[in-house]
Amino acid sequence: NYDLILYVNLELVNKKSDRRYIVQEMLGQGTFGQVAKCWDAETNSYVAVKVIKNQPAFYQQAIVEVSLLSMLNEKIDPDDQHHIVRMLDFFPWKNHLCITFEMLGHNLYELLKKNNLRGLQLQFVRTFSRQILDALIVMKGAGIIHCDLKPENILITPKVKSAAGVKVIDFGSACTEGQTIYSYIQSRYYRSPEVLLGYPYTTAIDMWSFGCIVAELYIGLPLFPGASEYDVLSRMIEIVGGQPPDDLLREAKNTRKFFKHVGSIYPGNEAHDGLHSSYRILTENEVEARDSKKPKIGKWYFPRGRLDRLIFAYPWKNLNEGNLPEAEKEDCLALVDFLRGLVEFDPNKRWSP
Ligand code: ADP
Ligand code: MG
Repeated sequence: NYDLILYVNLELVNKKSDRRYIVQEMLGQGTFGQVAKCWDAETNSYVAVKVIKNQPAFYQQAIVEVSLLSMLNEKIDPDDQHHIVRMLDFFPWKNHLCITFEMLGHNLYELLKKNNLRGLQLQFVRTFSRQILDALIVMKGAGIIHCDLKPENILITPKVKSAAGVKVIDFGSACTEGQTIYSYIQSRYYRSPEVLLGYPYTTAIDMWSFGCIVAELYIGLPLFPGASEYDVLSRMIEIVGGQPPDDLLREAKNTRKFFKHVGSIYPGNEAHDGLHSSYRILTENEVEARDSKKPKIGKWYFPRGRLDRLIFAYPWKNLNEGNLPEAEKEDCLALVDFLRGLVEFDPNKRWSP
């Protein structure tokens, strides 16, 4: 029951306008603006400064980011124990809202790239997953949906006590469960089935993205790297098996973009694949015939195949089930089981953090 401190009076809080931030290098660029590594001359330390684009819509959304993050930092996680980035300050500068954060390390996508996209050792996958889950637990407790969980938005923490760690950043798309006003959210590869289909969403959408991230950390490449929304959905169906439940498909706004209604369920009409569904996903030809834009169906994108095959026999692990050491086989089985709880089509059955 935390109320949003949405109406922050920026003039009043901008008491520290004489503080100097000296730009050292650019850290990243995103939809909302640019992030610079700066020297904070007042505290004599490095900080990351996010400079939001000077357009009203971005400014407004950044106010939401500031509000949610200050609530998370101050009320939910005052002792900085739950792997959520710390916001230090914010101020307007030439119509740009600037937000300063503690300086963190590389994001997980950069880490995977450094590792030639071959995936991380299971020990790191486990540690990072546990820490991201810790953040998701407190976020769920506060009714906050991140809405853009992906490797680029999870950063390595600098090695203070030599233990590997991560923090969740970028609450620039976040919302509260009572205010799910946007329907076009989450980055495509990490977009949950209910968001793709246009169905009311909850904190469960972050758990879907989390599942995609865990798989990616292990195999090194995105789990559902679809070139279009249809491509993402058809990969989900192929890799996970099954499809979203019929009542979700019946009520979702975009079902007809992706599925064909093949009749109600009655004996003798057992839909397809023994799924007993009234819907089947469109074929690629049906999609191409319908879309004038003809989205490229990225067949050449890696990976495809069933989830357990992807985890057990990933090519450059150069192993297959047959010659996996017994301990590793058990780890893989446990990982597949874990992933199945996360990339679960039905948001009500999907595991909560
Ligand atoms: P956007 O909303 O534009 O995606 P982010 O907050 O995700 O902005 O920041 C963009 C990128 O900048 C991140 O992916 C990360 O690489 C870098 N970055 C952001 N915050 C920090 C930080 N506190 N420390 C180090 N790098 C950061
Ligand atoms: Mg981001």
